[in-house]
Amino acid sequence: MEEIFKNLPKQAKDKHNENKKFFAKLKKKPPKHLDLLMQELHDEEFERTDCLDCANCCKTTGPLFTNRDIERIAKFLKLKPQQFIDQYLRVDEENDYVLQQVPCTFLGYDNKCMIYEVRPKACAEFPHTDRRKFQQISNLTLKNVAICPAAFNIVEEMKKRIK
Ligand code: SF4
Ligand code: SF4
Repeated sequence: MEEIFKNLPKQAKDKHNENKKFFAKLKKKPPKHLDLLMQELHDEEFERTDCLDCANCCKTTGPLFTNRDIERIAKFLKLKPQQFIDQYLRVDEENDYVLQQVPCTFLGYDNKCMIYEVRPKACAEFPHTDRRKFQQISNLTLKNVAICPAAFNIVEEMKKRIK
C-alpha cells in the first residue's frame, strides 16, 4: 500500500490532462445513466478496497467542519463547541473550519477513526464517487485522484466505460 501512495501523486499528475479533458466532455453531455454507473463503479471499487488498509485521506488532507459537525462531535467528546474549536480547529483561507494538523488527530494507530460515528460529513462522503450528478464535482475529483487510490481507479474505470 505504501508504494501505491508514493506513486499516486505522480500517476495522477500524468493523467491530469487526460482527466481534465474527460471531465470537460462529461460536463457538457453527461450520460443519462451516470448516477447509476457511478454507484456501480463506487460499490465495485470499495468491495476491493478496504479504507482501513489506507487512511491516506486522513493522513494527508483534512475535512472541513460544518457547524453541525462541530456541535455533534463536541457533544460526543463532552466538550462545548467552542472548546472543541479551540482545541482542534483553525479557520482556513476560505473561512472554513479545518483541522489544526494532519494526519488527523482523530486517526488511530490502526487507521480507525476515533470519532467514526459522528465524523464530519465531508469524511463520511469522501471520495464522493457515489454522488449524484458526479460531473458537477469534477474539479474536486481531479484533486482527489492524487490522494485516494479508490477515486483514481474509479476515474480510470469511468474512462473505459463512458465513451
Ligand atoms: S477514502 Fe480513499 S484515501 Fe480515504 S481511506 Fe478510503 S481509499 Fe484511502
Ligand atoms: S475525523 Fe476521522 S475520518 Fe475524518 S479525517 Fe479524521 S480520522 Fe479521518
